[in-house]
Amino acid sequence: MQQMEESPTERVRELAQTGPEAHHPVTKAEKHSSWAAAIFVESLKDEIVGVGRKLWERQYVDGNGGNISARAGSGTLLCTPTMISKRDLEPADICLSDLEGNILSGNRLRTSELLLHLEIYKANPRALAIVHCHSPYATAFAMTGTAPPIGLTAEYEASIGPVAVAPYETPGTQAFAETVLPFVQDHNTILLSNHGVVCWADTVTHAEWLVETFENYCKTFLIAQQIGRPLSFIPDGKIDEILALKRRLGYQDARMSRISEIASQAEAKQRAELEGLVGPGLTRLEALD
Ligand SMILES: [Zn+2]
Repeated sequence: MQQMEESPTERVRELAQTGPEAHHPVTKAEKHSSWAAAIFVESLKDEIVGVGRKLWERQYVDGNGGNISARAGSGTLLCTPTMISKRDLEPADICLSDLEGNILSGNRLRTSELLLHLEIYKANPRALAIVHCHSPYATAFAMTGTAPPIGLTAEYEASIGPVAVAPYETPGTQAFAETVLPFVQDHNTILLSNHGVVCWADTVTHAEWLVETFENYCKTFLIAQQIGRPLSFIPDGKIDEILALKRRLGYQDARMSRISEIASQAEAKQRAELEGLVGPGLTRLEALD
C-alpha cells in the first residue's frame, strides 16, 4: 500500500486521541472543519456497511461479489475492500482512495473494480455514490446483452428509464472501466454485458434503490411475459409528462432531448400565434430589449 500524507480522517482521529491542545497551531475553524469532515466520513462508512448488508440480504451479491463507493470529500472517495462478503463488512474495512486510485487509508485491499468507480466519478460530477453488483435478474439481461423494454411502469420510468448496455471487457481492467463512459452522463443505471449492473446516484442509499428498482423491474417484466397477454405500454404523451417532471427535478434521462424538442416546438407555435395576433407591436417591444 502506498504511504501518503495524513488524511483528514486520520488527523481528526489523532486529535481525538491526544486532545487538540497538543497540536498547536491549529485554528478553531480548522478544528471545526476537521471534526465535521471526520463525522461525515464515519457516517458515510456506516451507510456503505448498511447498504452492503442490504445487498447481501436481498441476494444481489454472492461470495465476495459487488462493490460500493461514495465521494468522501474533494478528490477522495470511500470504497469497499476486495475479498469480503458484503454481509460481513465493518466500518473499519472501508478504504479511502483518491481519484487516481491511490489508497490513503484502510487496512484491506480495495475492490478490484475501483477503476470502474473512478471513471464514473471523473466523468460525471453528479455521481456522488456508486453501487455495482451481480443481482440475478439484471445479470440475466446482461448475459443477453440487452436491456428490458421501457414504458411499462411509471415508477421505473421516473427512477431510471432507458438503461444502457456497455460492451463486454475483462472485469478489473482499465478497458472494462472505460466501457461505461459513453453512457454515464445520461444513464444512472448501466448493464455491464456478461457481468452485472452499476448504478450511480447522489447517495449510497439512493444508488442501492436504483439497483432494487432495476432488479425488480427486470423480474416483473419476465413474469409479465409469462402471462401470455400482450404488454400494455404507457402512451408516449404520458411518458413525456414523467420526463417533464424529471427535468424539473434535475434528473437525467436519455430521452430528455425529446422533451426539449417538444418544448421548443410548442414555444415556436405560441410565438407564431402571438406574432399573428400582435404583429408589428411585438417587433417594437423586442426592439426595446
Ligand atoms: Zn462485478
